[in-house]
Amino acid sequence: MTDEAAQPAQPAHARMHSVSPETQDIVDLVLDYSRRRILATDTPLDHAASPSELRRLAGTTIGEEGLGSRRALAVFEHVLAPACITTDHPQYLSFIPSAPSKAAIAFDLVVSASALYGGSWMEGAGAVHAENEVLAWLAAEFGLPEGAGGVFVQGGTIGNLSALVAARDDARSRREAAGLASRPEGGWVVVCSAEAHSSVASAARVMDVDVIPVTADEGGVLRPDGVRAALEEHGERVFAVVATGGSTNFGVVDDIAGIAELKRDFEFWLHVDGAYGLTAMLSPLGRPHFGGVEGADSVIVDPHKWLFAPYDVCALIYRDPDTGRQAHTQHAEYLDVLTDQAHYDPSDYSIQLTRRPRGLPLWFSLATYGAAAYREAVTHSLALARQIADEIRRRPGLRLVREPQLSVVVFERDGWEREDYDRWSDRLLEEQRAFVVPSSHAGRPNTRFAIVNPLTTFEQLVAILDSMG
Ligand SMILES: *Cc1c(COP(=O)(O)O)cnc(C)c1O
Repeated sequence: MTDEAAQPAQPAHARMHSVSPETQDIVDLVLDYSRRRILATDTPLDHAASPSELRRLAGTTIGEEGLGSRRALAVFEHVLAPACITTDHPQYLSFIPSAPSKAAIAFDLVVSASALYGGSWMEGAGAVHAENEVLAWLAAEFGLPEGAGGVFVQGGTIGNLSALVAARDDARSRREAAGLASRPEGGWVVVCSAEAHSSVASAARVMDVDVIPVTADEGGVLRPDGVRAALEEHGERVFAVVATGGSTNFGVVDDIAGIAELKRDFEFWLHVDGAYGLTAMLSPLGRPHFGGVEGADSVIVDPHKWLFAPYDVCALIYRDPDTGRQAHTQHAEYLDVLTDQAHYDPSDYSIQLTRRPRGLPLWFSLATYGAAAYREAVTHSLALARQIADEIRRRPGLRLVREPQLSVVVFERDGWEREDYDRWSDRLLEEQRAFVVPSSHAGRPNTRFAIVNPLTTFEQLVAILDSMG
């Protein structure tokens, strides 16, 4: 503690909140670290460590007396942070990477510093206004009608769940209005591709509804004929159809236009899960895959995936936000002062109440750089995926598992078993050259590049292919 004797006496418990030399020191330390990390160009990929190793290196950090900020930050910087993979590294190509823009990362500090509450207009009008401008901009990009809107939630899993809860609520209300039992005989079902993201099944479990998986075609695309058959078979039990706008494994987009057309013959809520892929609509290279999105009742897209925002954020957009509000508004005596007003309260549109305005880093970044910079960055990844796919096609011994539509490229090495991929992947990370993990399709092992970072280059990807021998 600095200069304790010179301080006016203050109660010990106020130390954490008062502005003092100690506080200034803490803030300087943390901001200095943040500045270094944001501006560094050589942050290594790093890798996980074992629990025992971390226990040994970090020691006991929580006790009745604090360590002080210097020691605590040193533990973070030298022990904990190096045991976390650098997800915004250009050679992080697994799962779906993260590639937050510098403006978005920096502004995330501002959101924290300002103690903003994003749940209600009364408390966070300015923040909510900016978030809503971003949601309206996204909705227009996706071809949704004016008035479409929603809320930024934690991630795609919560976004899908919230959208499906709204869908069921909508179906239930229509049944009740028609004088029917609120629940159809046999219970509710949601129809989706057998290749849909696991979060759809997870949402269904939470909601206690059944999933009807429909087999996708050879290329992984969910086609309307299969959906039609499911709608005919399950009739009024179907409250929603989920189309995937860019599957996580392959970046494949379902036939959204064909599925949307089925609304002429059947009544269902169309939800487009575009957590990873919907961002591709910003680019002329991606947009042609997404006909029909304009017919969706709800969509999600994760800015922490391909819209260059830090973790964790999902944009959940309803065609008619009222449907979301009907389903999600929480009622309680202490909330009446909010719910009695006609203001736009983001908490009314998803299953969460308290929220930070997690859309603000994206807002600041978009406002700073402009939408054109986003389009270019997305186009870069789409073009790079095509270029490296050409290279893979050209190389003897390598084979594309599927033709890439967006920025995920899945490929196999002739003769390799799972162990070969494992050994190769471990070595790449050990040598801190790349983070590329094995995957599989139809029981066969493969590997994949998921490209969202504008700093990823063709040469880096070629070097990874070379390392496969
Ligand atoms: C990543 C992803 C999700 C889940 O999103 P989280 O933000 O990880 O919860 C859902 N659907 C698709 C298609 C995804 O790619």
